[in-house]
Amino acid sequence: MNGTTRPSRSDAASVLFLKDEAVCLNVRPFSKTSHMVTWMTRDHGCITTPIKGGQRTKSGFLGCYDVAYTCELVYYAHDRNGVHHIRECVPVTFREALRKGWRAAAAADYACDLTLRTARHNLPNAALYAHLTELLDRLGDCPKAFVPLALLWFESVLLRVTGLMPDFTLCVACGGQPSADFSLEEGRFYCEHRPSRLIKPDSIRLHRDIPELFAFFLTHSLAETLEAAVASERTDDLGRPEPFPGIFGLRRFLGLFLCGHLDLLPGPRRTVLDLLLSGNAAAP
Ligand SMILES: [Zn+2]
Repeated sequence: MNGTTRPSRSDAASVLFLKDEAVCLNVRPFSKTSHMVTWMTRDHGCITTPIKGGQRTKSGFLGCYDVAYTCELVYYAHDRNGVHHIRECVPVTFREALRKGWRAAAAADYACDLTLRTARHNLPNAALYAHLTELLDRLGDCPKAFVPLALLWFESVLLRVTGLMPDFTLCVACGGQPSADFSLEEGRFYCEHRPSRLIKPDSIRLHRDIPELFAFFLTHSLAETLEAAVASERTDDLGRPEPFPGIFGLRRFLGLFLCGHLDLLPGPRRTVLDLLLSGNAAAP
């Protein structure tokens, strides 16, 4: 025996050599010089790669990855707990603008974390990848007042591409009401004509502006949404920009819906939105 092991046929068959583009979602310390990095790939869904010795001064990976970078990856895909061995990582887009403004950085971090908690390991979701990339590319030069709006756009499109879209179809018998009760658990409106199967449904009252704004986000790119927001001269009672009717209601609705259906804690979202909104008040 010389100490080396020849892989068996079954081992060899389970190893696959892959090349893909990916956005870095999360970097966690693994040891003094190593990281566990989670990526949203374009073609293979979410993956995790240990980068051993990635922080050593002579490492070929040094400076090649950080949250919100887009990189070209070469890795060996194993079906072992969704963790893969990385061979090459070449940064393609650094998104330097995200590191020059705290609003954009906080929003990008939240969006990457939400993607991490939503995307399935090894399950491709090209639409989610495209929407995340669109958001990260736009955040750098997004007007400060509209960074929270960009996040609401992303949350809305994320619900659609992950199959969790709320059903805003109105009851034909009473659909003319300006407000209606929405069951968070069932993800749809309910009323006496469409009673809930739940004894006491956890519901909120939604003004019709909220489904309309949600539908607007789904039918417009982020660039188009921001363009419409900049062109709008609407303001709230305190004189702050409120480019679309229903924006405050949609923000609250998305918070409740995301936490309920994705099993998320409300704290991180509340923190980032409070920070962005208080920042807007202090520095318009
Ligand atoms: Zn009805």
